[in-house]
Amino acid sequence: MRILVQKFGGTSVATAERRASVTSKVSEAIHSGYSPVIVVSAIGRSGDPYATDTFVSMVKEICPDLPKRELDLLLSCGEVISGTILVSTLISLGFEAVLFTGGQAGIITDREFGDARIVRVEPGRILEQLAMGKVVVVTGFQGITEDGQITTLGRGGSDTTASALGVALKAEAIDIYTDVEGIMTADPRIVDDARTINTVTYNEICQMAYQGAKVIHPRAVEIAMQRNIPLRIKSTFSEAPGTLVTNMYPDRGVGTDITSDRIITGIAHTPNVTQIRVLTGDVQEKHLTDKRIFKAMALADISVDFISVQPEAVLYTIQDEVASKAINILINMGFEPGVVNSCAKVSIVGAGIAGVPGVMANMVEALSDAGVTILQSADSHTTIWVLVHKEDMVKAVQTLHQKFRLGV
Ligand code: ADP
Ligand code: MG
Repeated sequence: MRILVQKFGGTSVATAERRASVTSKVSEAIHSGYSPVIVVSAIGRSGDPYATDTFVSMVKEICPDLPKRELDLLLSCGEVISGTILVSTLISLGFEAVLFTGGQAGIITDREFGDARIVRVEPGRILEQLAMGKVVVVTGFQGITEDGQITTLGRGGSDTTASALGVALKAEAIDIYTDVEGIMTADPRIVDDARTINTVTYNEICQMAYQGAKVIHPRAVEIAMQRNIPLRIKSTFSEAPGTLVTNMYPDRGVGTDITSDRIITGIAHTPNVTQIRVLTGDVQEKHLTDKRIFKAMALADISVDFISVQPEAVLYTIQDEVASKAINILINMGFEPGVVNSCAKVSIVGAGIAGVPGVMANMVEALSDAGVTILQSADSHTTIWVLVHKEDMVKAVQTLHQKFRLGV
């Protein structure tokens, strides 16, 4: 059996016309000899009647502190609705199709409600149906704990469902269908001449995704990478080949490193971060003070990023939504934190950055020419990050995209 996982994002199932594009992709897969397993996300975006964010705002008005276990029951409904609509469409067109929730599909997770991790997949039920010639539709973004509690997988969770099923079913490929033609050199919503990347490694795309390129979830990339299952990101609405994520260059032979001829893969951005600066002074045993600060953040479940420990200060960033909580903790500890709200992290990602001189110099020059203030910076062997004011974010991404000639 040649299994193909096809995941369709929220925008792909919203209207009858769009569902026709979905069913033609399913049909093409069957005609090419595949047994398709379809993963579907909730319909639409925030504000749409069946979008997950809409459900959340409905109950948050009644009970802002609804326990996460109960909230997950509601969060899992969006995919149940879109899955039922898709399976109805398929059956009405004469396909033999069956719908499973994440739990029914054998997706077992831990108990971290709202952000659960898949611990294993029991693919027996899906394989049984595929063997009977059925098209299997699975609701994305959700699973079940060992003791039968429904969990959701967090933002981008349907991508993770697709990858986990791809690995468990030993699929030939995992196709992620969305509303853009593939992974691009920057978010096409803010960079007009962003270019679709034809082939890219798991590592490069994982970095882009971690830095905010939300076209694919990084966890989904990591899972596919474990078994080297090719991931393809394509548009539901076109025939374009999209982006192939793999470790091989199909046209250059197995094992060829595809990163070597490209320094920079793309520019990613993450808005809504707050920079915190705590002046610790040149105290004795400063490391103990530093440790106390980070321990306090960890105890409050606040994840910190962009950390810079300096002789008389510590500097780090957090998500805007937890800023007031973090500031209160620091004040209660006796500090007077300096706070810069509404920042954005802009990153240049490329496996070829390491050891190439001048990338940072070019970045600083381009941003300063464009009048963008760099609040902080950091780098690794694949990424250079800068923190900027949120109002400069779009300009920074566009400027860097142009400076490094990533466009068409
Ligand atoms: P889906 O509902 O199909 O999962 P998402 O909204 O999660 O769709 O992801 C697709 C969106 O990701 C695109 O519409 C695009 O605006 C955004 N995006 C951000 N960065 C990139 C990038 N580098 N390449 C392509 N799309 C990107
Ligand atoms: Mg998505």
